This record gives sequence, structure tokens and C-alpha cells, in this order.
Amino acid sequence: MAVYLDNAATTAVLPEAAQAALAVMTENYGNPSSLHEAGRAARETLEKARAAVALALGCPAACVTFTSCGTESINTSLVGAAMKNRHRGRHIISTAIEHDAVLRTLNDLKNQDFEVTLILPERDGTVSLDKVLSAVRPDTILMSMQGVNNETGALLPYAEAAAAFKKSNPEGLFHLDGVQNFLKRPMPLKNVDLASCSAHKIGGMKGCGALYIRPGLKLRPLLFGGGQESAMRSGTEGMPQIAAFAAAVEKRLPAVEENGRHMASLKNELIARVRALGGTINTPERSADHIVNLSMCRGRSEVYIRALSDDGVYVSGGSACARGKKSHVLDAMHLPKRNIDAALRVSFCPENTMDDVESFCASLEKAAKLF
Ligand code: PLP
Repeated sequence: MAVYLDNAATTAVLPEAAQAALAVMTENYGNPSSLHEAGRAARETLEKARAAVALALGCPAACVTFTSCGTESINTSLVGAAMKNRHRGRHIISTAIEHDAVLRTLNDLKNQDFEVTLILPERDGTVSLDKVLSAVRPDTILMSMQGVNNETGALLPYAEAAAAFKKSNPEGLFHLDGVQNFLKRPMPLKNVDLASCSAHKIGGMKGCGALYIRPGLKLRPLLFGGGQESAMRSGTEGMPQIAAFAAAVEKRLPAVEENGRHMASLKNELIARVRALGGTINTPERSADHIVNLSMCRGRSEVYIRALSDDGVYVSGGSACARGKKSHVLDAMHLPKRNIDAALRVSFCPENTMDDVESFCASLEKAAKLF
């Protein structure tokens, strides 16, 4: 049996989620916009799913828009917020360690005459609240920050940043990239206007995301058409993915704390074992329970990843989207080049066990001897 430790990239679909998707594909397959009974049944499934995601977010169901992925939620938020507020100013603040879904969208906004300030992380991978707040100007119209960094697991001070930003710039909009926090740890949405989540990081299917839009906030959508999702996201709803997302949410929600404690114990054991093997931990003290970034003192990530894979142990070198490119996150932390070149990301789901940690460490020790 393979040991899958790349859950920040994507997760296995939970059996409950797969069952829910199958039922929607083969039995309850109507279009939620149709007026007949099959359509009504599909609409009921859609609204139940919305209520399940809203319960997990702690918001009214009307605040949840289903999208095709975390990336689409992020693009809709950033472009929509920038366009809404462009008459007030053109300055946007984010951090240099965001996911490319944020960084590349902001880059595109730069080409449309928005000015973007990216706050660099501290050497340990955390982000200084003071540095974020000292970048705020009267013309800052949007702030976007992730809650958990996807490569190091660092916790970012999004709640404090949102509170202070709303005080100084009440009309400014705050977007939270919650893709790596959602149902991994509490994610309060006080002072947050927009939040992005993704189904495939929590045991749902790929191709489904959720976008939280604060009550009363109206944004211009990215997609126009049939007016689905209260006209925020036209296109027939991806019902199998949405039903699976809701089933995964319902499974994970009651166990967030217990799962957090379990993954933290795996993480602590893994950190101790890696240090005993002479490795360095690139994950800061203040970090999520499910991600550990580490570097052995010699070698290259790709070689480790392949050697571990040959033993049936799957980890990544950083963000799965980066595919072998140098990590912009570790680079922004100014880590030594050899640590960046040899970085590995191990990421857990609640189903991982101490035996998985054992297998990883045994395989890592063997691989380290190649260098
Ligand atoms: N934001 C973060 C922090 C992520 O980790 C990811 C995916 O890895 C995304 C956004 C993009 O989510 P999706 O794959 O659903 O588009």
C-alpha cells in the first residue's frame, strides 16, 4: 500500500463523498434549474450542500457561491474587488508567499494599472502584522492574505490584518485565501469580505470550490450566462462535485479539533525524526498541523521525491502547481540555496498514521545515503 503524504496538493475522495457524487450522477441527476421533479430534487441537493458549507464557514447559506475550484474563487474575489473599488484607489496589498492563484491574478491587475505591494515573509516563513499594516495607504482598496501557507504551513495573521485594515480603510475589501485552512483549523470570518475554499483539499472532488461573499457585498462576476448561483457564477452547477464537497464537509466538520490533534502528533514525531537524521525544518513554530517542510543537508528535491516514490512514499517538493520550479516561498524567506534545492513538503490528512511517518523516515534515511 502506498503511503500518501501529499495531502496539501490533493486528497483521496472520502468514501462518503464518492457515494454522494455517484448518487447525483446516476439517480438524482437533474438540472437544479429545471422545473420538473428531477430539477426540484437537484435544487434541494444543491441548497442542502450550500447549507452544509455555510455551517462550516459560520455564515448564512446565501453567502456561499459554488465555483469550479479555489483558483476561480480567488480570481473572482480579487478581480471583482479591484474593479468595484477602483474609483477609490488603485493600491492592493498581499504577501510574497501567496499561492500563484493570487500572485498571478495580482500581476494581471498590475497590467491594468493597479499598484501591488507584496510583503516579504520573515526568515522563519511567518508574516509580520506590523509590516503588513505599515504598507496600508489611504488609497489601499484591497488586501489579500492566505490563512495557512501551502508550502510551509506557516499561519498568517489574517484576522488581525483584516480587523486593522477595516478600521483604517472601512471601504477597503479583505480577501482570505482559506484553501489550506478550511476544515483543518478554525477560520473565523469576522472582518473578512471574501474567502476562497477548495473541495479537493478536504476529501471532496477536484473541480469544486466555494466562495464566501460577506452579506450585502455585490461584485461583478467573471462568468456571465444563465444566472446560476445568484448570477455570481453562471454555468450549470457541477452537482456531483458539489454533493461530494458537502459530504466531505459533513464528515470533517465535527472532527476538526480531534483531527488537528492527531495530525499535530504525526507532525511532531516527523519533525523530531527528521532532526535526528540531520535535516532542517523550514516550517515555523506557528504553523498548521498538517504541513511540514524540511530539507536534508545534501541532495535535490527531485531525487528524494523519486527515491521515496520508488518505496511507495509520496511527498512533494513544494506546491504541486510549481512542478519542479524553485519555490518562491522558500526563496522569499531567504533560505540558503542548498535548503531550497533539497526541500520536501510532507502533508497529512486525518487518515494518516504513525506507521506512515515511520515509512517516510525509513525511506528518507535510505535516500539520504544516495548523496
Ligand atoms: N490557494 C492555496 C493556498 C492552495 O494551496 C491552492 C492549491 O494548492 C489554491 C489556492 C488553488 O486551489 P485549487 O487547486 O482548488 O484551484
